[in-house]
Amino acid sequence: MSIILAIDQGTTSSRAILFDDLKPVFKAQHEFPQHYPKSGWVEHDPKQILDSQILCIKEAFDFLGKQKVDAIGITNQRETVIVWDKDTGIPVYNAIVWQCRRTSDFCEQLKQDGYGSMIRGKTGLPIDPYFSASKIRWILHNVDGAAEKAERGQLLFGTVDTWLIWNLTGGAVHATDVSNASRTQLFNINTMEWDEELLQLFGIPTSMLPTVLQSSDNYGTAHIHDREIPILGVAGDQQSALFGQSCHCTGDCKNTYGTGAFLLTNIGDKPLFPASGLITTVAWKLDGKVTYALEGSVFCAGSVIQWLRDSLGIISASAESEFLAKSVEDNGGVFIVPAFTGLGAPYWDSEARGVICGLTRGSTRAHLARAALESIAYQVNDLITLVRDAGVTLNKLCVDGGAAENNFLLKFQSDISRVDIIRKASVEATARGAAHLADIGLHGRNRFAGDAYAEDSIYFRPTMEEKVRETLLHGWDDAVGRTLSK
Ligand code: ADP
Repeated sequence: MSIILAIDQGTTSSRAILFDDLKPVFKAQHEFPQHYPKSGWVEHDPKQILDSQILCIKEAFDFLGKQKVDAIGITNQRETVIVWDKDTGIPVYNAIVWQCRRTSDFCEQLKQDGYGSMIRGKTGLPIDPYFSASKIRWILHNVDGAAEKAERGQLLFGTVDTWLIWNLTGGAVHATDVSNASRTQLFNINTMEWDEELLQLFGIPTSMLPTVLQSSDNYGTAHIHDREIPILGVAGDQQSALFGQSCHCTGDCKNTYGTGAFLLTNIGDKPLFPASGLITTVAWKLDGKVTYALEGSVFCAGSVIQWLRDSLGIISASAESEFLAKSVEDNGGVFIVPAFTGLGAPYWDSEARGVICGLTRGSTRAHLARAALESIAYQVNDLITLVRDAGVTLNKLCVDGGAAENNFLLKFQSDISRVDIIRKASVEATARGAAHLADIGLHGRNRFAGDAYAEDSIYFRPTMEEKVRETLLHGWDDAVGRTLSK
């Protein structure tokens, strides 16, 4: 038996979840403030991140009483950048959050200068303000004295995992894991090392960078409230969810249906670089063996249901959408494309704007609710098609996130994507991934091989006639065509 404390440091809240042999037994959660100093800018106070996280951990300890915690696993919001002084531990600037667009102009310039394919080939990532590199550069260029201090080796960079590890170990360990490193745009996912050419391009001294460790590894000892606990597992949130969903084999896939959607597919031990706009990323590294993943995202998934509720007022709670969608036989020819902020892969049209089409005098709010739920599935299906086009055969789709509670959505997804869908009873997949990695670190082996958490899973299997499916997909393509800006 082992008690693992999973630290799940997210974009809007910090959480601590206790796992007893990978079963969640306690959860604490605290939100912390978001800062928007200018339009399009998003920051966090690194101290507030740390304080909210420690508060959650303290509550977990109170729950445990005298019982021992065997190990800590950390999972975190990815790409967010913190730079601090290595002697004082004081950040030189707020954390620049992954959502922050302040480096758009610089990234556009890099693209125009023709760096796109070199950067993609090394890191698996497109040039975009989303990733860490341009944000670190911004701090060095815009904070008084930061560039000089960095040159002198006085400053340290970290994503949020690194910031937590450094603080919890009293400044003893400056490290990150391969999955977080792979989101910085400075890490070569072929050689699995920081890349000199990229560091020079972004003007970032090597001395700032954390050591990159495996997913289950020795990240030092955390000293928290008189307890000493080894940190033995680390992964970025999406990769952690992939691991926590037992997607351990090539072709295993997970989708998180939250405000947006994140689809990650295990592609095995070789990176693929499809032309389609999917991101190539490191999933994890265990026993010296690297596993890669393809990643795609949908900007507007569960948020289309919020829109039905808050803007159109045709439902009073998100869950009502399921009941309404099931109350009609089909979508009645109605399609909604929720391109509220443009469309991502495979369309990449930031100027696209949403449409509702196919309305007749017989259309009702039930058809709209159904079309809205279907739109989530079509968008995820567009990503699944890209994964298949890259030559990957999907074994299964494991799901989590708020909108994965919706049975209609999952059945429709299964039908339209022709894939078996598995929803686990406990959907703490992100934290469980980190706990599982720590458990492997603790015991030196994977004690929960195979589908570790299969009990009580609910399956959704495709039954739709192919002709019906083709007609629907044609309707969706037609509707998307009406949203595109060119
Ligand atoms: P996030 O972590 O991105 O904030 P969550 O995973 O908490 O999101 O999921 C919340 C989203 O899921 C909201 O957009 C909400 O509208 C949607 N949602 C929640 N429950 C349901 C439901 N039963 N059916 C459809 N959508 C739902």
